[in-house]
Amino acid sequence: MFNQTFDSPVIRRVAVVGSGLAGLTAAIQLKGLGHDVTVFEKSRGPGGRLAAKRVPGGSADIGAQYFTSRNPDFLPFLHKFGGDCFGPWQGRFGFQAPGGEWEPFPEETRYVGTPRMTAITRALSAHAHVVAETRIGKLVRKDQAWSVSDTEGNPLGDFDQVIITAPPAQARELLANSGLYDLAAHLDDPVQRVLPCWAVAAHFQVPPWTHHEGMRCQHPALFWVANNSSKPGRNDSGQWWVFHASPTWTEQHVDRPADEVAECLLEAFRDVTDFQTGPDDMVTHRWLYARSEGGEQPGHLWFPDQNIGLAGDWLSGGRVEGAFDSACGLVAELNALPVAQ
Ligand SMILES: Cc1cc2nc3c(=O)[nH]c(=O)nc-3n(C[C@H](O)[C@H](O)[C@H](O)COP(=O)(O)OP(=O)(O)OC[C@H]3O[C@@H](n4cnc5c(N)ncnc54)[C@H](O)[C@@H]3O)c2cc1C
Repeated sequence: MFNQTFDSPVIRRVAVVGSGLAGLTAAIQLKGLGHDVTVFEKSRGPGGRLAAKRVPGGSADIGAQYFTSRNPDFLPFLHKFGGDCFGPWQGRFGFQAPGGEWEPFPEETRYVGTPRMTAITRALSAHAHVVAETRIGKLVRKDQAWSVSDTEGNPLGDFDQVIITAPPAQARELLANSGLYDLAAHLDDPVQRVLPCWAVAAHFQVPPWTHHEGMRCQHPALFWVANNSSKPGRNDSGQWWVFHASPTWTEQHVDRPADEVAECLLEAFRDVTDFQTGPDDMVTHRWLYARSEGGEQPGHLWFPDQNIGLAGDWLSGGRVEGAFDSACGLVAELNALPVAQ
């Protein structure tokens, strides 16, 4: 008989795979509903694509550059669970029209983590039980529950429900390894839509460009350039700039050595800015799964027969706020579920 709701006194054990914004949002909200939630993260710390790389003297945001907020619940959630972990980025933002001239971005408040993007997920993770350095490899049905194990086969516990917030390729791999081929097939198209991105952080002693703090370039290799040191809370000596390669260029050069990629993107930056001096340091990062484009955007996926849900940016617009929206949508659906006695 199904006559209780999910937020009844029944306490569910929920495993969340991934501690990016989607995973932490889902975990915090489910915990708030009284459930017993464990977040598993394959990396050393939380954050996912809200990422910062350590560089001499500080850090540079090599993943998401900023986020906007259209959902009225988003900023209050971040304030409640993250405090002052973020703030507005008072920059000048522009894009280059096909003729090369610069146009301003639309007026909108753009937010960043302070003093780095990962400050947001670090703060949120204090409100969740996160087990780091644990890559989930398999789910095995055990009565009504799921036995969850890592890629070494180590058992990690039994859970009533599993929420997967990994990017589509990693989510599909986990589902297929668990024999859940029908569920994995839902990800065939999304996997194709996730684009890679080469990222470079370069340090300059003198400002290489003074017209914008963030800009989208009209260049075959270079998509985005930002003065990371202009973001709030960064106290760099000199300036760290971040370059993101275009998805097409990254796909063509995905296996190229990192130092060659850094030189190519620096050359592209010189083409765009005409600034020839420096840099004196560069670090590089390759994102195999960076941004998703197009496709169906159902918000989240819930498979009631299996008690498995999927959330993440790729289901809701491919952006930071989309990750939050997706997790909220999935939790709302779970909360409305009838529960078997
Ligand atoms: C280069 C780049 C630039 C971007 N710029 C912007 C921007 O300016 N503005 C914007 O709004 N968005 C931007 N984005 C997108 C933004 O970063 C994402 O939309 C958002 O961070 C996604 O959050 P998520 O929680 O859905 O996924 P993720 O952050 O990817 O989190 C998924 C987590 O799952 C973990 N994981 C995967 N598989 C497993 C497993 N088997 N077991 C355990 N853990 C696992 C991963 O390690 C990761 O931590 C950018 C992304 C990149 C890469």
